Amino acid sequence: MGLFDVHAHLTDPRLAAQESDVLARAKERGVTTIISNGLNPDDNEAVAALARRSELVQPAFGLYPVDAVLPAMLAAGVDYPRDGEPCDPEAGVAWVAEHVSDCVAVGEIGLDRYWVPEPHWEAQEAVFRKLVAIALDADKPIIIHTRKAERRAFEVLQEMGAMRVDWHCFGGKLKLARRILEHGHYLSIPANARKSESFTRLLQTAPRDRLLLETDCPYLGPTRGELNEPANVRVTAEYAAELWDTDVRSVQSQVESNFERLFGFAP
Ligand SMILES: [Zn+2]
Repeated sequence: MGLFDVHAHLTDPRLAAQESDVLARAKERGVTTIISNGLNPDDNEAVAALARRSELVQPAFGLYPVDAVLPAMLAAGVDYPRDGEPCDPEAGVAWVAEHVSDCVAVGEIGLDRYWVPEPHWEAQEAVFRKLVAIALDADKPIIIHTRKAERRAFEVLQEMGAMRVDWHCFGGKLKLARRILEHGHYLSIPANARKSESFTRLLQTAPRDRLLLETDCPYLGPTRGELNEPANVRVTAEYAAELWDTDVRSVQSQVESNFERLFGFAP
C-alpha cells in the first residue's frame, strides 16, 4: 500500500535544488506517487523531464490562473510578485492542448480573484474554460486552484460537465465544500490540516470516499518556517487516523481507493 501527494511543486527551485533527498525522504515515509503540478509552459516542461527521471513522479500540466492573465495585468500596472518573464496565455493553453496525452491530470488550473483584479476576471475565465475543455476532450482529471472564486469555478465546472475533479487546498465555505463533494468531486487535504479549523472539520464530516492527500509543497508546511515536501502527506494521514479513530493503514487504504477512482490507476 502506498501514500501519494496529488499536488506538489517539485520543480520549485527550493525543492529542485535537493531533488534526490526530497524524493528519498518521500520514499522512506511510504510515498509511492507524487503528482507534480505545472504552472506554465516552462514549468510543464520541467515537470515532464522530472517525471521521466523519477518513477515516483507523475506529471500534471497546467496554467496557473494568475499566469492566465498576467501579461494584461502587468500592462495595466497591477502589482504581482513574480520572478521572470510572464508567459503568453494563448501559448500556455496551446502547450497543454499539445501535450495533454502525456499527463495524468490537467492542473493546476482554475480561477484566482485574490491576485487578479476584476477587469481581468472575464479573460481568466475564458482561459479556464479552454483548459477544462482540453481535459474533458482527453478524458483527464482536473486539479483545481481557486482563491476567492470557489463558487464561480464550481458553476463553470458543473456547466461544462466536468466530473473528474480534485479541488486543491480548498479555501471556500464549508457549505460549498459539502455541495462540491455531494456533486462527486474530490478535495485534497494539505499537510497543515491540523492547524486549520476548516480542514479539521472537513476531515471529521466529509464523506471519506471523496478525500485525497496533498502538500502543495514547498508551500503550506506543517511546521512554520520549514520547507514543505511530499513526505509530509504522512502527517495528514496520521491526523486523519486520529480523527477517524482508526490506524494509518485504514486511512491509506481509503484514500488509495479514492485516488484510483479519480485518476484511473493505483498510486
Ligand atoms: Zn499549487
